[in-house]
Amino acid sequence: MRILVVEDEPKVARFLERGLRQQAHAVDLAFDGEDGLRLAFENDYDVVVLDVMLPGRDGFSVLTELRTAQKAVRVLMLTARDEVGDRVRGLDLGADDYLVKPFDFDEFLARIRALIRRAASEGQTTLRCADLELDPRTRQVRRGGKPVQLTAKPYAILDLLLRRQGQVVSRTEISEHVWDQRFDPMGNVIDVTVHQLRDKVDKGFEPRLIHTVRGVGYVLRAGEQA
Ligand code: CA
Repeated sequence: MRILVVEDEPKVARFLERGLRQQAHAVDLAFDGEDGLRLAFENDYDVVVLDVMLPGRDGFSVLTELRTAQKAVRVLMLTARDEVGDRVRGLDLGADDYLVKPFDFDEFLARIRALIRRAASEGQTTLRCADLELDPRTRQVRRGGKPVQLTAKPYAILDLLLRRQGQVVSRTEISEHVWDQRFDPMGNVIDVTVHQLRDKVDKGFEPRLIHTVRGVGYVLRAGEQA
């Protein structure tokens, strides 16, 4: 999953970034509200972690902008004080959940997992192409009815290709969804990861599902024709 952390305290931001990366999430950081808003509009995040107290534009203002623009991203607000007023205001403005600082990191991760699960269970059922299946709720993948074990990055690429099946997904889109801003889409990491994915879901099966579109990216479809 791709997560944006908007937090002006560098120590806290880096701490959250490190922890989320260990859970195999792609993480971008913004240290003020303006930058957070810009990133949230530029990229597709699964969750935005939004501190309320930010220099300049505060978390409430960022949230208001996101919701006014109909951005459907999940938002977890971080409030500095345990003030009922702040929590109510955040929830009224469209936050999905909140956490009061200082918080326990395990609880933070649990809230993130809950938001991701909630997003997955709303309107998302099993993704299918031919005899390949991916269940976003359980993260189980099957080909021809047999379970396929995938590590985090190949899984995330497959999820993206399945949601966009029949369409060419560019290397840049893959890098943005599966890695994060500091990732260089020109390197060969994407190719290596797609190779691992093919090894698991295509090798020894008919028809072949993952196709390379030279110079552009990849497309997932059951037939050879575009
Ligand atoms: Ca702050």
